[in-house]
Amino acid sequence: MTETTASSGGRPNLPMQGVPQPRRDEVLNLPRVHISSHPVMAHKLTALRDKNTQPPEFYRLVKEIGALLAYEATASLALEQSPIETPMGPMAGERLAGGIGVTPVLRAGLGLAEGFREVIPDVQVWHLGLRRDEQTLQAMEYYNQLPHKVDLQVCYAVDPMLATGGSAIDAINVLKRRGIPRLCYVGIIAAPYGLLKLSQTHPDIEIYIGALDESLNDVGYILPGLGDAGDRQFGTF
Ligand code: URA
Repeated sequence: MTETTASSGGRPNLPMQGVPQPRRDEVLNLPRVHISSHPVMAHKLTALRDKNTQPPEFYRLVKEIGALLAYEATASLALEQSPIETPMGPMAGERLAGGIGVTPVLRAGLGLAEGFREVIPDVQVWHLGLRRDEQTLQAMEYYNQLPHKVDLQVCYAVDPMLATGGSAIDAINVLKRRGIPRLCYVGIIAAPYGLLKLSQTHPDIEIYIGALDESLNDVGYILPGLGDAGDRQFGTF
């Protein structure tokens, strides 16, 4: 049971205090986990993490990193034949087969979803709001704009920080109930704890991240991380 005190207003004080966490090297080679090794990613991540980076620049970087992750995460998508005429004559072209969805977990996932749209402008964006009840640690959907009928080859749940793994696991649960054939999670920075939890809970999905950090602090923030990804995008400090 999670410890609380009267002074904490009934909330868990330090939910990660004393909780064993895997080391970074223990989760480096999990199946279906892709950690970017692109030098441009490393360059942009350093600018993003810097505490002096202000919200407008931070949001722009999240979008750019979203576009880089979209390239990596769409590398194995299926194509279909699409014959066209170039100005020089006929050609057997190819197009992406089937619809592609992106589900930003509100609100921190919004910048990443914009990055996806830069790469695939006709991606379907489904907003999903999840709030965690800090007593039960269960996620509650407070906003869900997922369509009733779906016809997609893949959907990407996007949320920048994979910390304890709770909202990522819940977002994938919501999408699984929609019967989408292929699901992926895309995040900017993961902690070993959340990465292992997500990979063990949903071993059938692909996970794409920009970097794997060291650990979580006692209140579940990633170290060295970048602070609160929502606050830093939208300037709500
Ligand atoms: N959410 C954030 O925005 N940052 C963290 O470090 C962990 C969760």
